[in-house]
Amino acid sequence: MAQNSSLSNAEYPFLSNGGRMGEQIRAKDWSSTSLGAPGTWPEALKQTVSMMLSTAFPVLICWGQEYLQFYNDAFRPILGKSKHPQALGISGSETFAEIWDTIGPMFEEVMAGKTVGFPNFMVPLERNGFPENCYFDFSYSPLRDTQGHINGVLVICVETTEKVKAIEQAEQAQAETIIERDRLKNFFWQAPAGICILGGAELTFELINPLYQQLFPGRELLGKPLLEAVPEVKDSAIWDVLQGVYTSGKTFEGNELLIPLARTSDGPVEDRYFNFIYQARKDLNGSVDGILVFVIEITDTIRVKRKVEASDKRHNFLLNTMPQQVWTAKPNGELDYVNQVVCDDFGYDTDVIVGKGWQGFVHLDDLTGCQTKWEQSLASGKEYMTEFRLKFSDGNYYWHLARAVPFIEDGVITSWFGTNTNIDSRKANEYKKDEFLSIASHELKTPLTSIKAYNQIMKRLEVPEKVKPFISKSADHIARLERLIADLLDVTKINAGKVSYAMEQFNFAELLNDSVESMKHTAPQHQLILNGNPDITYDGDRGRLEQVINNFISNAVKYSSAGTKVLINSAMDQDNIVVSVQDFGIGIAKENLHKLFDRYYRVDNTSMRFEGLGLGLYISAEILRRHGGSFWIESEVGEGSTFYFRLPIVQTEKQEVTRTATYYRDRYISINYNKMHNRLDVDWTGFHDIESVKRGCLIMWEILEKNKSDRVVNDNTHVLGNWSEAAEWVGNIWFPMMEKAGLKYFALVFSPSTFSQLSAKKSIDIMAGIITTQYFTDIKLAEAWINEQKQIKSI
Ligand code: ADP
Repeated sequence: MAQNSSLSNAEYPFLSNGGRMGEQIRAKDWSSTSLGAPGTWPEALKQTVSMMLSTAFPVLICWGQEYLQFYNDAFRPILGKSKHPQALGISGSETFAEIWDTIGPMFEEVMAGKTVGFPNFMVPLERNGFPENCYFDFSYSPLRDTQGHINGVLVICVETTEKVKAIEQAEQAQAETIIERDRLKNFFWQAPAGICILGGAELTFELINPLYQQLFPGRELLGKPLLEAVPEVKDSAIWDVLQGVYTSGKTFEGNELLIPLARTSDGPVEDRYFNFIYQARKDLNGSVDGILVFVIEITDTIRVKRKVEASDKRHNFLLNTMPQQVWTAKPNGELDYVNQVVCDDFGYDTDVIVGKGWQGFVHLDDLTGCQTKWEQSLASGKEYMTEFRLKFSDGNYYWHLARAVPFIEDGVITSWFGTNTNIDSRKANEYKKDEFLSIASHELKTPLTSIKAYNQIMKRLEVPEKVKPFISKSADHIARLERLIADLLDVTKINAGKVSYAMEQFNFAELLNDSVESMKHTAPQHQLILNGNPDITYDGDRGRLEQVINNFISNAVKYSSAGTKVLINSAMDQDNIVVSVQDFGIGIAKENLHKLFDRYYRVDNTSMRFEGLGLGLYISAEILRRHGGSFWIESEVGEGSTFYFRLPIVQTEKQEVTRTATYYRDRYISINYNKMHNRLDVDWTGFHDIESVKRGCLIMWEILEKNKSDRVVNDNTHVLGNWSEAAEWVGNIWFPMMEKAGLKYFALVFSPSTFSQLSAKKSIDIMAGIITTQYFTDIKLAEAWINEQKQIKSI
């Protein structure tokens, strides 16, 4: 013993080797522990430690009742950095304090003779420079000495990480397979196509998905050979195709193919259409052992397609039997169809004409006019109507009346349907008529001039008294004939655009005076009374304007009874000469008023009773238009009429304008944004022409948009005269613009002028309901109505 105790640790053979743990065990001062110097250790401990140091498996020895620990290099990582190297020589209960509740009782069992083991215990180790989960089978076994006494617990581990990982991988692979299988199953079941697998040479239904079953509702398919389940296949060409796929292994794709099949087992065989793929299924040796079928039934689609094709054919037939040119255009105006008539007329194919559009065929002189109208219709969604000349393949131009209406689906224009009707012969007739009238009136003029000369000579001759009245009567008729011929000549000139005007400065008061005086001679039974007539110098065609005055006065005389008054009035109104001719005659019904200035128009009930051609007012209108003036009428049936005309005096001084973001005022209009009621109060004043209306309207639009208002009280009470030339622009262009800018409600206070009312109604009719509109005669009622309308704007 004494000899042994004098040895140093390194000299004990049972402590040799063992790598780093060997070194540490040897380096430890065991004499200070309860075990004492290694020389004094029990034989069993010496042997076990020696065995432990030479083992490559992780081994831990827990010796004695205290479980003093020894472990080898292989065990070291299992203890991790926090337990090694302190664990050496101390009690296991200290090292594993945190799990002693669990392993303490196990150790006790081992001390009582039991061996305990638990497999695949996970220990996180950092042995390769990174943390990894390692698995070990642990075994706790009793350490017995030669007498069989149990002196400690031997812990041996075997690493099972590889095994566990392999198991994990296998499990994962299995899970993935299950997912994959489910996915495939889902695909199969939920695929938007019918799928089935026909197995074996008999093509037995091995598998079908619900959509496939739906192709044959109620028919039993699964497990049956194709010909037994769907015997009608035998009679169709598809049977050979299936056979072909089975023998050749080649995939077959069917597109819109007809296969006569019954749906139910007792139903009739129907013509059914399918898109499908037959794909051969091959076994491991590569030989075909079945067919995979993907199929979609398209019978309904094909039926609809056939119907559309048939109806397209019918439509085309119909459109081509029409004698007119028929066309359609996209909502943006692009031409997208023309019928055969167009192709025949122009000598091009549909594609060429559709590509070129009408521009390529319309006469240059008519192009701007028809384009403007077309753009207006596209913007407003209102009917398009115009006349233009189209160039045919023979090189000649032919007059056409073009008309197009929008086709509206669900409130949206989806296309335009148009026709061009050849009106060339009508136009030619009109032209011929004008030409004839022109020649005839010229020809009539020469003999009439001679007759007039003879008549004047006769007047001067000494003739018996009783002849004199005849001479004077014939002079009257000659004068009338002269006027008629002059009117006819004028009309033909207007139509040909050949009227020339001799503008000069003259005294307007003198002109009016002279005209009234001379008319007094021709209408001695009427009282012609001239009022006002300020002294004004005017720049215009004196002769032509005299014609207008004479026409107005002679009409007043013609359409009123002898003895009644004809009041002629002339006054200056805001740089305008306004002349009115009032009679107390038959009057004119409201519905006829706007037609009076048309060529050859005569009110029905008067046409038989009074002579005339219906040309006077047409010519007057043209003359006034050329002087920048306008005309209007106020009339009551049975009470008489007042005809007005207005001639603007060219302004020299600049007009005064006041303008802010919420207010505008010039001599024609005042616009005020009324913040309290979120509305525009607009007051129009005086006479208007297209320019003044456009200017005022555009400023209204700006102020409405800027102030985000949705309502307007538009007061026309102070509007004078007629602004019909602007009505179309207001209806077609301005109202849609205002709607886009947010206008919802428009209260219109009427002008007392019937013609202004007609213009306002016309523009609102054109606009047709995109904005809620009300007419009023009283501004207070208009304001009350507009304030009642629900405010859209959030305040
Ligand atoms: P006409 O030669 O027929 O008088 P106008 O062009 O001068 O041709 O007038 C067109 C039509 O207008 C007339 O036919 C008549 O019906 C109607 N008309 C014109 N002036 C008056 C009036 N003062 N009173 C009633 N009707 C009138």
